[in-house]
Amino acid sequence: MIKSAHVANLFLNLLFPQKPYCLICSKKLVESSLHLCQQCRDKIIPLSGPLCDKCGKPLQIQRKNMICQDCQEDYHAFVQARSYGHYSGILKQLINEFKYHGKPQIAEVLGNLMFDVLRELPWPIFDYIVPIPLHAARQRERGFNQAYLLSKVISRQSGIPIFCGLIRIKPTEHQTLLDKTLRKENLKGAFKAVNTHKIQDKTLLLIDDVYTTGATSGECSKCLVKAGAKAVYVLTCARG
Ligand SMILES: [Zn+2]
Ligand SMILES: [Zn+2]
Repeated sequence: MIKSAHVANLFLNLLFPQKPYCLICSKKLVESSLHLCQQCRDKIIPLSGPLCDKCGKPLQIQRKNMICQDCQEDYHAFVQARSYGHYSGILKQLINEFKYHGKPQIAEVLGNLMFDVLRELPWPIFDYIVPIPLHAARQRERGFNQAYLLSKVISRQSGIPIFCGLIRIKPTEHQTLLDKTLRKENLKGAFKAVNTHKIQDKTLLLIDDVYTTGATSGECSKCLVKAGAKAVYVLTCARG
């Protein structure tokens, strides 16, 4: 149902190319490549101030190499995780519109925000970008994987190739409905690394749309490290 609506939308967009209107407030734009008007763009605020050194969570106190409570209680197999902004306001609106309507212009906007974060980070040179996969059934239903579309934009901007080195083998419950412990439980054995010869001793950049408790990113990182990756870093568009 969702997929046929998605295909119909794509078809309509081909027949009637979208006029340059702001994706959020529908104001007419001067240039079609902008996708957002200046006022709406200005409302997407990047995370700032002291962040947890490990997961990138905003912290109250400024101290060097500070680790948040979550990261002290829970081990995550990635080296560091960072996001563009809070999962709220216009950023949340854009992500939801993107996920549930799959508008490619939105992947362009969000992917570019993520690339802005990436190029400011003192991270190592990555061998591959790895999108967090959806289960095949979920992807069929949605018609695309949002993490893959974001990865494509970041790959084009950064020159880092994409390697789809993970598959989701367990159809998991919607994570949003679960608490932290259940999220972890729900994800046990959900992912599998494939074509693992390609990631031996490689440094990988894991991409997803939203970081919530780190359960998904953590489980994917664990899978990749177990399969031979040297290090995994995580970049998401927003954090819940
Ligand atoms: Zn606008
Ligand atoms: Zn943390």
